[in-house]
Amino acid sequence: EPERVLEIDYVFKIVVVGDSAVGKTQVLGRFAKDEFYFDSKSTIGVEFQTRTVTINRKSIKAQIWDTAGQERYRAVTSAYYRGALGAMLVYDITKRQSFDHVARWLEELRAHADNSIVIMLLGNKADLTSKRAVSKEDATEFAEEQGLFFSETSALSGENVESAFLMLLEEIHGVVS
Ligand code: GDP
Repeated sequence: EPERVLEIDYVFKIVVVGDSAVGKTQVLGRFAKDEFYFDSKSTIGVEFQTRTVTINRKSIKAQIWDTAGQERYRAVTSAYYRGALGAMLVYDITKRQSFDHVARWLEELRAHADNSIVIMLLGNKADLTSKRAVSKEDATEFAEEQGLFFSETSALSGENVESAFLMLLEEIHGVVS
């Protein structure tokens, strides 16, 4: 029996940025493999993960890049952003500082990435409701001002992770097609 060959219509590079420990690796892992890794930093050295999805009858391979801890040393280079069509800008809803730094990450994206890059703001760790330090209203308002898409996610429960990535990929598809 012949092997079924999956034809890829598009490959979209997506970068994940944001402060250290906000859950970037976990969010990516959740979407790429639908798993939550308790041994989080075992992924160091992996440059990207992929997952192929079908959107509007096109098969789209999402190639999602992780900083693998480089953000700690402010060493995210322009090569990381090169060719990226989308970005997930992640903060932690329990860490006010990670939200305050979002503006800085936006500057980085706007300096190094393509002008047409689609950016989605992700408030992660939404499962930690009793520790919330950033309101949904503040984040929604900021996202509207900056022209970003916005969603709150939990890599732990999986809440909204899939829908956030699908929305980003759909928007990119709308830009490129
Ligand atoms: P990164 O440095 O931004 O890549 O962050 P990691 O993905 O390594 O996650 C940092 C820590 O937060 C780890 O201990 C994760 O297990 C934890 N974490 C990540 N996402 C979530 C989440 O949605 N909910 C909770 N409760 N913990 C999370």
